[in-house]
Formats: sequence, C-alpha cells, structure tokens
Amino acid sequence: MNFDDEDNSTINSSPIMNGESAETLTTNDINNNQSRIRTNNETNSITQTQATTRPRLIIEPLDTNLVGSRMMTRMKEVSLDALMCEDKVQEMNLNRNYIDVQLIRLITPEQKDHRASIYNIRRRNGGNNNSNQQVHFSRLLLCRLHPEKNQNEHTRLLYLMEAKNSNNVLFERNLEYRDDGTISIGSFFRILAPLPIVNSMRNDIPLVKTQLPIVAMKRPVTLTSTPISLQIPENMSMAFVLNGQTLHLNRTVPLQTTCSGMLCDRQRISEWSGNRRCGCYSMFQYRSNLALEHSICIDTQIGRISHQDFSSLKFDLLYLKSHIPANIKVSALRTSDEFWDIEDTIEKVLKFINGNGGFTVVGWYKRGEIKDRSLTDAPNVDSDNMNIGAGKVNYHIVQLYPTNQTILDPKSTLGKGLDELKYDVSRIRRV
Ligand SMILES: [Zn+2]
Repeated sequence: MNFDDEDNSTINSSPIMNGESAETLTTNDINNNQSRIRTNNETNSITQTQATTRPRLIIEPLDTNLVGSRMMTRMKEVSLDALMCEDKVQEMNLNRNYIDVQLIRLITPEQKDHRASIYNIRRRNGGNNNSNQQVHFSRLLLCRLHPEKNQNEHTRLLYLMEAKNSNNVLFERNLEYRDDGTISIGSFFRILAPLPIVNSMRNDIPLVKTQLPIVAMKRPVTLTSTPISLQIPENMSMAFVLNGQTLHLNRTVPLQTTCSGMLCDRQRISEWSGNRRCGCYSMFQYRSNLALEHSICIDTQIGRISHQDFSSLKFDLLYLKSHIPANIKVSALRTSDEFWDIEDTIEKVLKFINGNGGFTVVGWYKRGEIKDRSLTDAPNVDSDNMNIGAGKVNYHIVQLYPTNQTILDPKSTLGKGLDELKYDVSRIRRV
C-alpha cells in the first residue's frame, strides 16, 4: 500500500452556516436507545440476558434516517485482533465489518514535514515489524475503541491516518457535522468496512484504513468504566473511562488561539500554537478564537491525576449558556469583572455536577513521553535515544461531562438547575 504521496494541505474553508450542536441526549433519546436495544437483538445475535447485563453500550447513528438501515443492521462488530490476523481476515466478509470508536486526539504534521513513521505488523507467516517507512499525512485521528462485544478491547486505541491516498473520504457523509462541532474530540463514530490491519504507528497502535466514510454516532447513555492500570508497559498507550468522578479545578485563563473552528474542540492549544495546525478543516469568521484553559485534577483509585492545560469548547458549554461571541477580545476577559463572574459560575457548576453524580472522565495514558514526541518529529532524528521521563505515566484528559446525563436534558429538573447557574455570555462587555 502506498502512503507516500505528497499531501495537499490546502484547507477548504467555505463557511457553512449552521446552528450549534451539542451532544445533548434527551430523555427521549435514552428511551429510543433502550427500545432499539430490543429490536437490535436479532441482528446482533445477542441473547436477552446479555442485552440486560450490558444494555447501554449499543450506539445509534446521529442521522435518524440510518436507524434500521441495511448499513446499520447487516454489519457486525469486528475486533482489532481479528483484523490483524491473516487467517481470520481471509474467512470474513470485510464489507460487513465495523468498529465503533471515540475520537480522542487530532494530530497534524509540522508545516515543514508531513511525514510520520509507520511499522509493519508481524504477521503469522513472517514479516518484520522492525521495518518502517516514512509516510506523508495530513491528519492523524487517535481513537479509543468503544466495543459492544469485544469487551477486552475497551482500553485499546487505533489511528486513522488521513492522507491523499488513505482514508481521504472519512468525512464525506458528515461535512456539516465535521465543521459545526457535532463531530469533535470526544465524539463517537463508526468505521465501516475497515481493511485488514498491516501497519502500526509507534507505541504499537494499529493503523486502520477504510475506503468508506465514517458514520457519526450518538454518545451512549453510559460508558463502561475502564480504570487506569499502573501495570501499563513502557511505551504502551491505553484509554480510560472513569465515571462518577469529583472534578477539582484550580485555575482558568482566557487565551487567544489561531482556531475559530470546532473539530479540534480547542484542545491541546500549546501543541498547535507554533508551526502546526489545530486540525480543523474550516475556520469561521463569525466564531470566536478564544479558549478558556483550566488546571484540573481528579482523585482516582491510583492517586491524583492532573491536567494543567485542559481546554474544551464542549466543556465550556457546561458553564456558559453559549459560546463566547466572535467580537469579544481576550483583553475583555483577562481581568474584567465579567471574568470573575465566569469564574464564580465555574465553581458553582462544578459543585452542582460533583454533587449530582459527578463527572465522566475520558482520556488516555502512557508510560514515557518519548514516543509521543517522536510521532511527529523530523524522521531523521533518532528520538529513541532521547531518554526522557520514560518511567513516568502521562495522563491526557480529553472529555468531561456529567455522568448523570439527565443534567444535560434542559427539560429535567436537574437540567433546569444547571441552566440557571450558567453564565450568559452576552453580559461580557466588548473591550
Ligand atoms: Zn481548531
């Protein structure tokens, strides 16, 4: 397979006028989801008993026209391990497979170098996993698996690499969703008909390819808790999901960024403030490029996990009634009374959510930072020799929302309670 094509990095930025779309699940969605589980029983060959023990993992397409369509009912979940096994892939109908994932990170190349190293995966009939090749790419999508059947793969990660000849139709079905914020970091989607896996990125994360567009999916009502394991081997990356966490936040600062898009969710700002793009396809003049960065921490079973520079547009909407308007400058927020009002609001909202079921925290972690850096470093630099902090586990929180999703239903009592606390951004003066 040839990745080695010059990538066209010109970003098409025709503005699409569209309303905000938060991933809010209503009680109706929840009910629909539960009834769908029953109707899906036959097609997914799940027994009634299994369905009751893990009823809420099945996810539905965002586009309601697809519910019950052949694309949804005739396909079966496939495991990453099966796609990596030569014998198994020869026996399966590749067209009918899918993998459900959650997007947890977007990586763009440095402007001067669009290449990354990929490795061959050792196959049953030989092959050499030490041989690597440099490939050009425009985006890497790091995803966490959200399996319904293959429970052992809950902590697994995969990469989708977008390049000129690879995964270049990913968002073809979902251009509006991609640009209006419906799909962003933390969103769920279905990879249809993934090809047999032959390559991995560093950290042994499989590189998945498909020739079909992804299907945007609704967020499941409940996520399976996948605790953090300190047994994680060196240079391995794994995902975690923690439910019912008490979130502590001890710093918020407004920052100006170069992004006025939605896909990147304004996460990992420090990474793309230099010579890298944030990963958004479209920027909109009528949107603000400000971000609010927070220092956060949670106390888990393995100790305190902190994230010093967490930012997320979706998280902001838990305490702001709407996004910050485009004509607000960062100076209007830095030391103004309005900023202290926002700060007060954040404290109240955290207290409210912490006291009503806590937060679901989604993220990923790995031992050693070296491989993360080397992923997009210049290919000739032998970063394996840069032996920095390899024993340390690094945690990256990518999504925070109330575990009790009734809070996100504006019609519920809890939803109204949260709404009353939220800050009305029209109060910010234009300084
Ligand atoms: Zn962006």
